[in-house]
Amino acid sequence: MSHDWAKGVLRQVDPTGPVRLTDAAARVPGVPDKGVLLSATAQLQERLAELQEALHADGRHALLLVLQGRDASGKDGTIKKVMGALNPIGVRVAAFGPPTPLELRHDFLWRVHQQVPPRGTIGVFNRSHYEDVLAVRVRALAPEAVWRGRYAQINAFEQMLAENGVVTVKVLLHVSRGEQLARLRERMEDPHKNWKFRMEDIADRERWDDYTAAYEDALRKCSTSWAPWHVVPADDKAVRNYLVARLLVDALEALAPQYPALDPAIRSAAAAWYRDAH
Ligand code: ATP
Repeated sequence: MSHDWAKGVLRQVDPTGPVRLTDAAARVPGVPDKGVLLSATAQLQERLAELQEALHADGRHALLLVLQGRDASGKDGTIKKVMGALNPIGVRVAAFGPPTPLELRHDFLWRVHQQVPPRGTIGVFNRSHYEDVLAVRVRALAPEAVWRGRYAQINAFEQMLAENGVVTVKVLLHVSRGEQLARLRERMEDPHKNWKFRMEDIADRERWDDYTAAYEDALRKCSTSWAPWHVVPADDKAVRNYLVARLLVDALEALAPQYPALDPAIRSAAAAWYRDAH
């Protein structure tokens, strides 16, 4: 089945155009049935696992998925559902909560750089350095002059990573106001989800428009050729999982990791050994 419906939404954020995070942009019209989406996602996950092995064998690059999104946008669910098919040996997930006192005494990228995946592996950031131009900006945790300078610092950091073999895929999981409210309410009502409920989520929801402006700025200022942003409509979880899986497969296929061939000298030495082995 062709998945042309996905082409438009998978486009990289164009830094020269307007970026509008409307409620409508949280859904995709004309998507296939859930069953079709689930089996297409499963196929992508199989391909992802093959590519992961080749990435490891090749050893020249790392893949970094940066996941951002408002509360209840599905960051944890995406990691569980999309990355769950990978070999856990080669995947590292790093979550970024409020900085510790020690982290605050360092530059904002210090804690982030330590979590960048080594070559041959896949890393996922559950929130990231973008909180330093999102939460920090909206909650006024640093003066404007400080967070304003960070867009350029982030671009330079991500460029340095790209030049050192890290392929960065940045995804904003975009939920609508209505869907976020429904999910936050579920956290209150479902005993298995109560533990996720935090009063800060309500405070952040009250600042919806400020976050929208901060996200739009981050997307525009930091969608670069070396680390582009993608906005993934995330109101529908099956659509979200399909799109994130596809972005990862596309990024790895573009990289085309190769299995290194056996060194000819080792091959002939081994062949001699095998001749006499018994
Ligand atoms: P999540 O809300 O991501 O699902 P969680 O509920 O477990 O995860 P934590 O991991 O404890 O929460 O922290 C997430 C919170 O940390 C978010 O409110 C986020 O805005 C905040 N945060 C992350 N990085 C920073 C930062 N650099 N400065 C200030 N706040 C930050």
